Amino acid sequence: MQTPEHRQRLSVVCPVNNERENLPTLFTELRHALDQTTLAWEIVFVDDGSSDGSAETIRTFCQEDTRVRAIFLSRNFGHEAAATAGIDHACGDAVVLMDADLQDPPSLIPALVEKWREGYDIVCAQRVRRSKESAFKRASAYIFYRMMTRLVGWNLPADTGNFRLMNRLAVEAFQDCPERNRFVRALVAWTGFRQATVPFDRPPRKAGHSKYRMWHMCALALTSLTSFSVAPLRIATAIGLLVVPFATLTVLGIVIGRLLGAPVPVNVVVVVSIWFFGGLQCLLVGIAGEYIGRIYIETQRRPVYVVRERLGGHPREKTHQ
Ligand code: UDP
Ligand code: MG
Repeated sequence: MQTPEHRQRLSVVCPVNNERENLPTLFTELRHALDQTTLAWEIVFVDDGSSDGSAETIRTFCQEDTRVRAIFLSRNFGHEAAATAGIDHACGDAVVLMDADLQDPPSLIPALVEKWREGYDIVCAQRVRRSKESAFKRASAYIFYRMMTRLVGWNLPADTGNFRLMNRLAVEAFQDCPERNRFVRALVAWTGFRQATVPFDRPPRKAGHSKYRMWHMCALALTSLTSFSVAPLRIATAIGLLVVPFATLTVLGIVIGRLLGAPVPVNVVVVVSIWFFGGLQCLLVGIAGEYIGRIYIETQRRPVYVVRERLGGHPREKTHQ
């Protein structure tokens, strides 16, 4: 039996954006689950610019329990930035990252810890069934995870969100990644440490509404694809290589047809070609532009998030601020 001084510490990081109705249940369930692990623990709430009173609720948790720490960001920086802020401030030997809307059930934490004790560096909660999620969300998630694994060449476990445990080694490797545009789950997988998965049934959110509309999901997919792969640039090159001979042959066909006196409707061919190549160029410029935009953002080297206030101390030095 370990003495309390030698007990390992677990940090739970929860990014919060307008989750006031979910927070009391989350806090109760979290404390219950964490007490089952026999680990020393802390909870790090990151208030990501909430406007519904979530910040006040988090303050009361800090007063009620000294094991709760809180970071209040100066405005809404987005889920991935808020998660990064929480990970930067977590002190544990292992860090669990989870959503605050009870879609990531705290009762799964002991199972994640169990796998960590077996020696895994990263333990991902893997959804087996996505209750009540739209067919679009399920289909897009299915395609996304399989496409990413194919394109980047390392394993992004399918059907895992941000709900995962990372040991200190994985956390530090994650913190060494300097990029501004952060897609946490892919960066964590990229570190290459030993990963395990624990299956769970993902319930619908308890209250409030999802901040991820279709457009946000597409933007996130684009961020992750362009962060980890230059395949779209290569696809653009391949399209160009295919289209140039095709266009050359078409022109040759028209010329030969005219020389042989065949009735070639030149106007139609010209109009269709202009549309086709015009569209193609827009697509290729767009792909190149996406990468240029990312280079621009990275060269600005702005902090990933800005902290307005911290409660419960700020013991770690390495941050993305
Ligand atoms: N979240 C955040 N900042 C944002 C959007 C979301 O911190 O700008 C938090 C949110 O409070 C929740 C988690 O990120 O704890 C996941 O958000 P959401 O449930 O809206 O995403 P979904 O589960 O629909 O993918
Ligand atoms: Mg959710």
